[in-house]
Amino acid sequence: MKKNKLSYVYMKKCLNDPIFNLISSVADSRNMPAFVIGGYVRDFYLDRNSKDIDIVTLGSGIELAENVAEKLGNDVKVNVFKNFGTAMLRFGDLEIEFVGARKESYRMDSRKPIVENGTLEDDQKRRDFTINAMAFCLNKESFGQLSDPFNGISDLENKIIRTPLEPNTTFSDDPLRMMRAIRFANQLDFTIESSTFQAIKDNKDRLKIVSEERIIDEFNKILATSKPSVGIKLLSESGLLEEFFPELISLKGVDEKSGKMHKDNFYHTLEVLDNVCAQSDNLWLRWAALLHDIGKPRTKRFTDSTGWTFHGHDHLGAKMVSGIFRRLKLPMNEKMKYVEKLVQLHLRPIVLSQEVVTDSAVRRLLFDAGNEIDDLMMLCEADITSKNEKTVIKHLNNFKLVRKKLIEIEEKDAVRNFQPPVSGEQIMEFFNLKPCHQVGEIKNAIKDAILDGIIKNNYDEAFQFMLKKGEELGLNPRS
Ligand code: ATP
Ligand code: MG
Repeated sequence: MKKNKLSYVYMKKCLNDPIFNLISSVADSRNMPAFVIGGYVRDFYLDRNSKDIDIVTLGSGIELAENVAEKLGNDVKVNVFKNFGTAMLRFGDLEIEFVGARKESYRMDSRKPIVENGTLEDDQKRRDFTINAMAFCLNKESFGQLSDPFNGISDLENKIIRTPLEPNTTFSDDPLRMMRAIRFANQLDFTIESSTFQAIKDNKDRLKIVSEERIIDEFNKILATSKPSVGIKLLSESGLLEEFFPELISLKGVDEKSGKMHKDNFYHTLEVLDNVCAQSDNLWLRWAALLHDIGKPRTKRFTDSTGWTFHGHDHLGAKMVSGIFRRLKLPMNEKMKYVEKLVQLHLRPIVLSQEVVTDSAVRRLLFDAGNEIDDLMMLCEADITSKNEKTVIKHLNNFKLVRKKLIEIEEKDAVRNFQPPVSGEQIMEFFNLKPCHQVGEIKNAIKDAILDGIIKNNYDEAFQFMLKKGEELGLNPRS
């Protein structure tokens, strides 16, 4: 942290944006104490750019928001969430949320608190971590003054995640905070203080009162970090991962038989994930990396002659994707299909690179992967994690060859977004057929002939091939 000297000047600099002066004068004119609190204050000290601002006031947050919006002009709309007593407005690229200071108490079966009005300190006590409980005053007489009752500044300096109150209570009250602790540790590169981490372990099964949507929202933030393995290891170590993602836990462990071992697929998966993250920000490619070997535990076999095998784990893994997405409330749309496809195909380029790279195998890969070919290649390269450097170099070199071939063949044959040059309708029309299996057979034969390089990818050659195939099937052209 660069700004460890907490001079007044720094605090004021944080509040440089004219919006804070405006909120300040509105709050003063209404005699309402007002503060910037939470993430914005934390991110200021961490030099992180933050666009969402939380304002807490002693009184009605909704009223303050409406008064501020009035001053900002007609086109600023306030979104009021009456049930929560909060109001939000957007100004430029800022998203500003207003809330009255509150005191919270919890019931066992819900993370929704019973809320009553409270002091600033009450409000700070209900915050999840000391680094998220700091506030700057906005009222003129103490503009920029930091309120930090739990010494969040020192935790920021020492890179520590710690709850303001007793951690068991904090986590049992709202178990989502356990996910947030790990997310922040991963995102900010902080350490979770030991009694706080112990409390996560002790309260892990409280996660069941948190909705899948909230859990996965935090999990996706972990996946979006530059090194998600750190967060996922913490999730595993604390026991939280088991609660919502048992399939990943099943990847753990190494078996040995007749002196033969296989690699630990959990740690291998995390390595592949980090490798992909070094190359791409695409969240769904990251999901594909996380799930690429998810079918391994259920396909694991051992024989003396072959050792450990996971035959068909690509296929089974792809089949598991939709169930996992559904349960975790991830989108059941083209994103899911994309992950399914990459899991299904993730071995293909590797197999290819181990053999003589034939044109026809490359054409088939291009055809099957379509627009996902580049992402698939990235995933496969990331999947090469052997400890033996020579093996890695050999594989990567083979990969270069496959990539070169892919470009050559795509330029020559354009099979990436292959559309059959003779359509099913044309086949039916020509042979006077109704929709039937013979139409599919001819279509497939044409496709295979093109992919195998027997004919070129154009109408004339495909048409001639169709005639030949029709003849073989005993079909006559329409007279
Ligand atoms: P980010 O915006 O990067 O997700 P943040 O800390 O700003 O991080 P928000 O969800 O925007 O997180 O919440 C704003 C503030 O509200 C937090 O800094 C914290 O003080 C408080 N907060 C949010 N969620 C919780 C929670 N589950 N329990 C207690 N306090 C919370
Ligand atoms: Mg925030």
